[in-house]
Amino acid sequence: MSRENFDYLFKIVLVGDAEVGKTSLTTRFAYGTFTDQYISTLGVDFVVKTLALNGHVIKLQVWDTAGQERYAGIRPIYYRGAKGAVLVFDLTRKQSFLNVEKWVEQVQRYASEGIPMVLVGNKLDLVDSYEVTSSDIEDMTTEKGLVYYETSAKENQGVNETFRKITELILQREIDRKQSVLTESK
Ligand code: GDP
Ligand code: MG
Repeated sequence: MSRENFDYLFKIVLVGDAEVGKTSLTTRFAYGTFTDQYISTLGVDFVVKTLALNGHVIKLQVWDTAGQERYAGIRPIYYRGAKGAVLVFDLTRKQSFLNVEKWVEQVQRYASEGIPMVLVGNKLDLVDSYEVTSSDIEDMTTEKGLVYYETSAKENQGVNETFRKITELILQREIDRKQSVLTESK
């Protein structure tokens, strides 16, 4: 029988409007590849990747889907047990940024109220087409207390940093929670 060597298993969900780059970010992170072709995600997929962080081995299950609106029925399955969320918008599409608020609500409703989230502005490489300004982003991160990263799945910028950050936030929360359970039971 094989023994799996990890200290923690975290489920992370990617959320955001269709075509912001959720699948591209997931694929880049897990396999180091990118395709310009649009591959519509049907239903739910997840990839698994193991990270070493602060002396712990962490197995990440990264869930990626599209059309959550269309398949409202899968929402509870998608979010169940998620320990963290990556909120993705497209820097070249203002509407995808405006919709972040809606995604935050959905995460809080279906996953859990206080789970860590990281905000991601993707398509950093398309500088000439930006529709979202840094002051728009600053307002949102201040208001919602979100950590923010900019990424290009295409040019592999910020992708690993984003996934490491969300993992770090989850790990910290898990450790804090364990600590408070220990303190309470004294
Ligand atoms: P999803 O619907 O959120 O999963 O989005 P996809 O990952 O399928 O990406 C939608 C489209 O945007 C595809 O054509 C991708 O090739 C493209 N795309 C994704 N990320 C980037 C990026 O960082 N830069 C550029 N230029 N295109 C991207
Ligand atoms: Mg997709």
